[in-house]
Amino acid sequence: MPHPVSTPVQQHDGKSNREVLVDTLQRPLRDLRISVTDRCNLRCTYCMPREVFGKDHPFLPRAELLSFEEIARLAASFVALGVEKIRLTGGEPLLRRNVEQLVEALARLSTPSGKPVEVAMTTNGVLLAAKAQSLKDAGLARLAVSLDGLSDETFKRMSDTAVPVRTVLGGIEAAQRAGFDAIKVNMVVQRGVNDHEIIPMAAHFRADNSGTILRFIEYMDVGNTNGWCMDEVVTAAEILQTIAARYPLRPIEPNYGGEVAERWAYQDGAGEIGVIASISRAFCHSCTRARLSTDGKLFTCLFAGSGLDLRAPLRAGASDTALEELISSRWQQRRDRYSELRSAATEGAGLAEAKKVEMSFIGG
Ligand code: SAM
Ligand code: SF4
Ligand code: SF4
Repeated sequence: MPHPVSTPVQQHDGKSNREVLVDTLQRPLRDLRISVTDRCNLRCTYCMPREVFGKDHPFLPRAELLSFEEIARLAASFVALGVEKIRLTGGEPLLRRNVEQLVEALARLSTPSGKPVEVAMTTNGVLLAAKAQSLKDAGLARLAVSLDGLSDETFKRMSDTAVPVRTVLGGIEAAQRAGFDAIKVNMVVQRGVNDHEIIPMAAHFRADNSGTILRFIEYMDVGNTNGWCMDEVVTAAEILQTIAARYPLRPIEPNYGGEVAERWAYQDGAGEIGVIASISRAFCHSCTRARLSTDGKLFTCLFAGSGLDLRAPLRAGASDTALEELISSRWQQRRDRYSELRSAATEGAGLAEAKKVEMSFIGG
């Protein structure tokens, strides 16, 4: 069935009256997440369970990966169309050799109004201690480090490796020393698996006085392999209740419109935390994010079943204008609102069974 195509609207971007590309729900294109590898050095049970991503798993051969030059070229097209923030993810982005070179190329991009593009990365932190300074020097502005618990027992259970928590904490400390604009620590909370770590994690990052912000993420039904069920989701409301019972909280204003995390400050002044309520308070209405998979497909939703191949036209010699047309026409057709529909459907039945892309392939 053909999708209705909306017309770009005129919108103030603060300084000028610029044409803004919007989708069918009037959402602009602002953020781009790029998966730089489908491989990972952990096997988190909720993302890349070892039964599925084992020794025989067919990861992408090298020739299928976008090169840094190809990523930078596509990123420039996205930036020309409105993207202001780029996040490198994966798989594990620090497994991609010389990823700093890509950071450097992306950090050189600027928006049509002349603003430098902000480059960020989400990493599991295992290789961060050795890389933090070079990433900062290459122009990486912000970092999110995933860590689901402070005890080795919990971490091993969730990440299914023998890497000690100390290694990830060492990575976070190296990043704090390197002086990024912002460091966030992301904890996915899964009932009965790591919910007992909510308070220890809050206590640890409250006490470290570094400005690092801990964010709690509701466990999501991404991909087809993690065996998700609603019973395992600890909602943002529950998480906040647990923390507030120990450390009283007050809500604070978002940093900008459409911010995904809801912000809460400790009443005693010991910093802030965030909750990302993708399940219990879906935020599709303000979702401005496009995703570029490791092999160069454009996905307009984390839960999409298929993406638009940009690698083939790129390798066939498409001009910048042709690439921009492909991207903008796909964005104009975009109607994704999976999480809102999941909330609307009775207990998410049906939707959770639809065929979706794996998160390690397009990044979180
Ligand atoms: N390997 C890197 C890392 O773990 O930070 C980057 C890629 S990972 C797919 C990006 C983020 O997605 C991580 O913070 C991870 O915890 C989150 N994630 C993966 N599967 C998830 C799920 N089922 N529900 C919620 N978050 C998930
Ligand atoms: Fe790897 Fe990140 Fe997925 Fe864990 S969440 S398996 S670290 S890609
Ligand atoms: Fe965006 Fe899709 Fe997530 Fe909704 S479900 S917030 S549209 S990525």
